[in-house]
Amino acid sequence: METLFARSVEDASRLLKLTEDDRKLFERVEAACDELVLPEFERYVERKFNEKIPEIIKKHKLMGIPISKKYGGDGARPLVHALTLERFGQLGLGVITYVDVHQALGSLTIQEWGNEEQKQRYLTKAATGEVVLAYALTEPEAGSDPSALKTTYKKDGGNYYVSGSKYLISNGSVANKLIVFALPEGQQKGVTAFLVDKDASGFSVEMRMEEKMGLFTSDTSLLALDNVKVAKEDVLGEEGKGLSVAYAALLNGRMGIASGCLGVMEDCINQVKERVTSRTQFGKPIGKHQLIQRHIATMVANLESSRWLVYQVALKKEEYDNNRGNLEMRTEVDRVSAVAKYVSSRAAYNTADAAVQCFGGFGYSILSPVTKHLLDTRVARIYEGTDEIMELKIASTVLGREFEAYK
Ligand SMILES: Cc1cc2nc3c(=O)[nH]c(=O)nc-3n(C[C@H](O)[C@H](O)[C@H](O)COP(=O)(O)OP(=O)(O)OC[C@H]3O[C@@H](n4cnc5c(N)ncnc54)[C@H](O)[C@@H]3O)c2cc1C
Repeated sequence: METLFARSVEDASRLLKLTEDDRKLFERVEAACDELVLPEFERYVERKFNEKIPEIIKKHKLMGIPISKKYGGDGARPLVHALTLERFGQLGLGVITYVDVHQALGSLTIQEWGNEEQKQRYLTKAATGEVVLAYALTEPEAGSDPSALKTTYKKDGGNYYVSGSKYLISNGSVANKLIVFALPEGQQKGVTAFLVDKDASGFSVEMRMEEKMGLFTSDTSLLALDNVKVAKEDVLGEEGKGLSVAYAALLNGRMGIASGCLGVMEDCINQVKERVTSRTQFGKPIGKHQLIQRHIATMVANLESSRWLVYQVALKKEEYDNNRGNLEMRTEVDRVSAVAKYVSSRAAYNTADAAVQCFGGFGYSILSPVTKHLLDTRVARIYEGTDEIMELKIASTVLGREFEAYK
């Protein structure tokens, strides 16, 4: 097992008793990472979506890690799930985006908000990878403020008809089921979440958004919905309660992104270690120069300080999972997941920047093993809640809800 990750597993085992199943799961993740590392780098250089991500994750039966065993998943506890994402994160945020969107924003949302029939219909298939999920909230005019959605729905007979566009949607053109949020036509309130089929008439991928500064190996798409028919059985959660569904999904998603950022930092440290012990300047390995050691110390401090925040989220999330309906616990998970996502994404970006610095001129080449992380991690400070929205959320937990500056 990769060394820094092995240390994380050891630390986790001090926090909770890892089972034989958990250890076998880590072995499967390790095997998938070994297979993915090369194609992931190749697709990054080619600036292409990495089609090997779904193929290899599915092959190692890793699509359903957090899904309950009852629906065919591994039923991994939140800390175990976080650890698997930490390991995938070493490959970069392209892999994490695919996995986190499918597992945290998609599967866990259906598990939490779906009725039994929806879970039997979709969750069992999400666990095998037959169903791949996306989460479509953002629109050209509604990003940080989802109450400004322009996508609308109308009811006719027993069905719903959804129209609008969804912007910057990860897995948008590779998913076959999408959680789409829309407002009732002519109204400003009452957002509803729908499970939309990619083959439904009126649904189309307008564009694969490939002109990104990084995250090339992840699919990001612009979607159009023109009177897309959705059966009433495919309303997720109660009609009109879609924003609660959307926010709950992000709570799970943020833990995933933060976990992935830990892996990014681990890979940066590993790559820098190799480079600074082999590259010689002024007659000695550059790792013997004290200012290079300062970069390494900063990278390690970034990793360690973020790591415990993520584990804290996982433990509190499990406590809340066992006490659903406890609002105080939910608020606490919301708070710590915002802190963990905010700190880890900045830490990962700064760590990747320090890694590029240690690589010198080669670090400025897209072919160095760390430049990808610098390009990819920038997005972690934007998606699933920007730095600023996280700051406002965190500040309001101290000042009180009446000071919430982002609603
Ligand atoms: C690669 C990628 C993948 C994505 N994947 C998905 C996905 O799968 N599903 C999905 O639904 N969305 C996805 N997104 C969208 C992402 O969640 C949004 O980009 C993000 O929420 C910000 O919204 P916005 O881009 O409209 O920026 P805006 O909301 O327009 O914000 C612009 C700037 O203004 C700041 N700002 C806004 N409001 C306030 C305020 N009240 N106080 C202070 N500052 C404020 C923001 O922090 C930001 O700095 C993705 C984005 C990217 C780049």
